[in-house]
Amino acid sequence: MGKALIIGAGGVASVAVHKCCQNSDVFEEICIASRTKAKCDALKEKLDGGKTKITTAQVDADNVEELVALINKERPDVVLNLALPYQDLTIMDACLETKTNYVDTANYEPLDTAKFEYKWQWAYREKFEKAGITALLGSGFDPGVTGVFSAYALKHEFDEINYIDILDCNAGDHGYPFATNFNPEINIREVSANGSYWEDGYWVETKPMEIKRVYDFPEIGEKDMYLLHHEELESLGINIPGIKRIRFFMTFGQSYLTHLKCLENVGMTSIEPIEFEGKQIVPLQFLKAVLPDPASLGPRTVGKTNIGCIFQGKKDGKEKTYYLYNVCDHQECYKEVGSQAVSYTTGVPAMIGAMMLMTGKWNKPGVYNIEEFDPDPFMDALNAFGLPWKESYTPDLVD
Ligand code: NDP
Repeated sequence: MGKALIIGAGGVASVAVHKCCQNSDVFEEICIASRTKAKCDALKEKLDGGKTKITTAQVDADNVEELVALINKERPDVVLNLALPYQDLTIMDACLETKTNYVDTANYEPLDTAKFEYKWQWAYREKFEKAGITALLGSGFDPGVTGVFSAYALKHEFDEINYIDILDCNAGDHGYPFATNFNPEINIREVSANGSYWEDGYWVETKPMEIKRVYDFPEIGEKDMYLLHHEELESLGINIPGIKRIRFFMTFGQSYLTHLKCLENVGMTSIEPIEFEGKQIVPLQFLKAVLPDPASLGPRTVGKTNIGCIFQGKKDGKEKTYYLYNVCDHQECYKEVGSQAVSYTTGVPAMIGAMMLMTGKWNKPGVYNIEEFDPDPFMDALNAFGLPWKESYTPDLVD
């Protein structure tokens, strides 16, 4: 059917590349391009020989000219951005210049402020519309599948959704006292920021980790979870009509939190550059360099993840509750693609998002969040490509 250019060769990209190769009718060809070409070549070596033709390239995705040259050379149908959120705008600029569709899994972040806001990317709406190309924002799990779940619940289960609680539980154990399951810099920026939730059209801000709940997760059991700000709250608050409140909770173990507090207290999580031996360094980037590479956690991580959404609203005038979730096993993911479940649950929907654009199932010029498209083909693809979803009409509610 066509060709995708995948930018980035980290944990998430590795899963997406495996999944594109499992879906070679759609992904006849892929080019993997990243800062460190050796990582792209290593992925190619693992997967070469199947039906999908794989090429690799070196690219600095902070540089629009380099990206434009690469896209013009490769002529992909879609660019799948699996680098870091800092590169979103340069890659979108290059897509505009070359009139190529764009997909990512995380919203743009300026290097110097942890914001988790869509305003920079939403500012491209008119330009993408005029260029006749589509940008699909946030096609990971959260954001990503959580938005698809919301659109699906609205389409099939409710006349009106009033409350959404997104619950992200990782009950995996990697055996290290402290490590992050995806890019440490992005992960720590996310969890050390203030929390917030959306209520009656306004943001309610909380201190980091101020709101804690215990939840009994299906197939996992009781875990502590904490309210965080998360980027999909912003788009869902606008795109789901009738919504009164959306919250996001993520589970953390005590060891993770104790280490994080200590690192924070000594200044290691700061994103303010400091001078060190005559060089400017960002403490958080230095910390990333000493922590285990998330890609190396795969073989050691055991246990499951459970990520999903609890919806409360009305159907035919009656109050109704509905829970949609996916349970994923770290070791099964590792056996299948050599990665743990956090990369897996992001890489699979990233491939599916690219597939939706390549097959023309989702096709409207402009910049869109994932819940703005028909959820049905995406929900079918989740079942087909390793992230089957489950539903419950009688879930425990979060108070
Ligand atoms: P990694 O750090 O493992 O991989 C990032 C990759 O991007 C690396 O290969 C890195 O290259 C490459 N890269 C970084 N900067 C540049 C640049 N300037 N030019 C070219 N390549 C670059 O991250 P993950 O795979 O864990 O995460 C990837 C993305 O997925 C992130 O944006 C993250 O926020 C997002 N994510 C989304 C989730 C969701 O559910 N929506 C969940 C988890 C992650 P190098 O190897 O040289 O460092």
